[in-house]
Amino acid sequence: MSESPSLQSFIAGLPKAELHVHHVGSASPRIVSELAARHPDSKVPADLEKLTEFFTFKDFAHFIQVYLSVVDLIRTPEDVRLLTFEVARDMARQNVRYAELTITPFSSTRRGIDERAFMDAIEDARKAAESEFGTVLRWCFDIPGEAGLESAEETVRLATDDALRPEGLVSFGLGGPEIGVPRPQFKPYFDRAVAAGLHSVPHAGETTGPETVWDALRDLRAERIGHGTTSAQDPKLLAHLAEHGIPLEVCPTSNIATRAVRTLDEHPLKQFVDAGVTVTINSDDPPMFATDLNTEYAVAARLLGLDERGVADLAKNAVRASFLDDAGKDRIATEIDAYTESWPTT
Ligand SMILES: [Zn+2]
Repeated sequence: MSESPSLQSFIAGLPKAELHVHHVGSASPRIVSELAARHPDSKVPADLEKLTEFFTFKDFAHFIQVYLSVVDLIRTPEDVRLLTFEVARDMARQNVRYAELTITPFSSTRRGIDERAFMDAIEDARKAAESEFGTVLRWCFDIPGEAGLESAEETVRLATDDALRPEGLVSFGLGGPEIGVPRPQFKPYFDRAVAAGLHSVPHAGETTGPETVWDALRDLRAERIGHGTTSAQDPKLLAHLAEHGIPLEVCPTSNIATRAVRTLDEHPLKQFVDAGVTVTINSDDPPMFATDLNTEYAVAARLLGLDERGVADLAKNAVRASFLDDAGKDRIATEIDAYTESWPTT
């Protein structure tokens, strides 16, 4: 990395908001080691050193293997609570003040975790994390696209049933592979989620072309786009995103790991900014892609040629693009400004 040590320490202390980060995908070796110790019959080693080796990113197939191993360790409501609370601890260590965590409840309920207990576990962790670390969490419930329409029905039911819907839920998403999983088929589910007051934040244009982003905007009423990487291929789409103020949730290292983009130097981040599109910087599945949010900001600073003030503006983009209430947004933005003003080189 060519960033100055000073820029790196600025980023480390900078109050940040994260908008695109997955619940299970945020399980660090430390957290997985705790979960593995609770379930000795699993094939996942509880030994931290062995786990760190297991987590070393090799290729996308290996990432899926790691991801599924962690999914297998989430067996009880207490596992869900532990994962959620400990993910918040890892975020707080990076000065993340607010995060919209993407949760796939279908993965847990289909494995037999009671839905009421699942909701109670995440809410309990959210409240504990806020009082203990000062990190505010909100939820995005996403449809695992590869699991078909049955998973879409189940996810929208969990997200809109008044007796179940958790207080922290703000948005509705769609993840999983894009190839062979056309976005328009999910329209009725997004319509129901939006009618219930949830924001629409599907993944689109990560591994398929800009037409998928158009589909997400038109059929799923997307208010932000998860990744949206291939939007760079369509100037009309870039203009539309800029004109309508639809932010992209950019996750640079993830895009390289999944081969959505070949190299960081070829990443279209700068093209988005030059086209007037609002970009936010995110980490996606950080430990599994050997990154964290601070590293992603450092990558973005290099790709965009930003100094401390530029990085602070980027952090404020995420605050503004979040679904936090106005008072909450103002509070974090003010914190970012105060931090930046007090930095010796700005
Ligand atoms: Zn994602």
